[in-house]
Amino acid sequence: MTVLAVASGKGGTGKTTVAAHLASASARTRSTILVDLDVEAPDATGYFPAAHATGDTEAVSVLVPEVVESLCTGCGLCARACRFGAILVIGGVVTIDQKVCKGCGRCVAVCPAKALKEVKMNVGETTRRSADSLDLLEGRMAVGDIRSTVVIEAAKRRAALAGASLQIRDCPPGVSCPATHAIEGADYLILIAEPTEFSIHDLGAAVKLGRERGIPTGVVINKDGFGTADVAGFCASEGVPVIGRIAFLRERAASGATATLWLQDPLIMDEMDRILSRALAGARTRSVS
Ligand code: SF4
Ligand code: SF4
Repeated sequence: MTVLAVASGKGGTGKTTVAAHLASASARTRSTILVDLDVEAPDATGYFPAAHATGDTEAVSVLVPEVVESLCTGCGLCARACRFGAILVIGGVVTIDQKVCKGCGRCVAVCPAKALKEVKMNVGETTRRSADSLDLLEGRMAVGDIRSTVVIEAAKRRAALAGASLQIRDCPPGVSCPATHAIEGADYLILIAEPTEFSIHDLGAAVKLGRERGIPTGVVINKDGFGTADVAGFCASEGVPVIGRIAFLRERAASGATATLWLQDPLIMDEMDRILSRALAGARTRSVS
């Protein structure tokens, strides 16, 4: 499976719209799965209203610790072991913030009194759907939860089992922890940018993230002609290829807001084919062991 991650330095660049079109174009010639890893606000499946469920919705959970007070000595080792600040021990009394806990199990492992037991806590879900020849997988966080990376990793594991030859990930915008998890393991990073100064500033951070992770990267200029900022000049200075341009047309401007696909528009779909072939040509190859 080849994995293409579609991401952006900032929200609102048309990232999901491009990912949905790329996946639709790809599905015409190869088995493809579109994976929505923007788990705080997943909306890629909105582009495919006729999609039907093809698998169970799977709960994503973590094992969080609970204190057995009768066994706890108040030694504080668990708090010192937690890298996420989820445990406080004050005056020998242990308080665990289970919403902050990442379920790493370190506190349980270090507790000399075996005073921590693990209980399951739901943090989100993944759902498989199918829209004609395109497979869809959505990760979605539980309302009020903050462990997006746990859901992202669960969706990535499930997508890897789907058996598609191409996986297209719709990643969270920005360069924070969720975006980093979403692009990790991709063979090529497609960054979507608009011709505005804000977009170029944030594109720089996203290019840096891809470089740090060693992922080959190309840029798609969306709404080309809408603004005057020189995205192509910036890409040239960074040594990053521009692998596609999608012209700004007023009648397409609401595509994202209305989740509209332009599958019959040759201007769009021919450009999607070109972007795909450039990304696949630039993708790193996986070693088979
Ligand atoms: S490490 Fe175990 S015994 Fe020590 S404070 Fe934590 S729960 Fe209690
Ligand atoms: S399981 Fe890990 S993250 Fe959760 S409280 Fe224990 S050490 Fe902290």
